[in-house]
Amino acid sequence: MDSRAQVERIQLIKILYDAAVAHSAKDPDTAMEMEAAWENLREEVGDDAIEQALGFHPISFVTLDDSHTRCLVSVYGHTYLCEQAEGTALAQIQWRMGRVETAEGYTGPYFACRLADGTMQCDCADWTYRVALSPSATVAHCKHLRALASLGRI
Ligand SMILES: [Zn+2]
Repeated sequence: MDSRAQVERIQLIKILYDAAVAHSAKDPDTAMEMEAAWENLREEVGDDAIEQALGFHPISFVTLDDSHTRCLVSVYGHTYLCEQAEGTALAQIQWRMGRVETAEGYTGPYFACRLADGTMQCDCADWTYRVALSPSATVAHCKHLRALASLGRI
């Protein structure tokens, strides 16, 4: 298996695992199956390959509807539910991104947008921090914007 295929596989199984854990109260059998699958994968490829794949830019996602406006994305080790929100004149493309609830807790939702002038903006603390350090807000990209950009969604 080439390395890109392995990264894609690891990210996909992590998405399915996180989603199953998030819904474990409703479907404990699937959660147990995905936990076993995740542990088997860890044994098969090793922790270094897992860490490397989850640190790679997102290439795997699971669409949840036919119009591709709801999807699960692996964003640097954490699984996010991404839902496209209706755009406005100012923010023509908008995504609401919330980390899938796991034992680690829930973060978000954040709104990641492409503005009418072509720049991108997010309301997360990471983006705000990067803007403060950057000479230009147009070059500040948080992990949410990088994830959407790498998947061609923003
Ligand atoms: Zn962000």
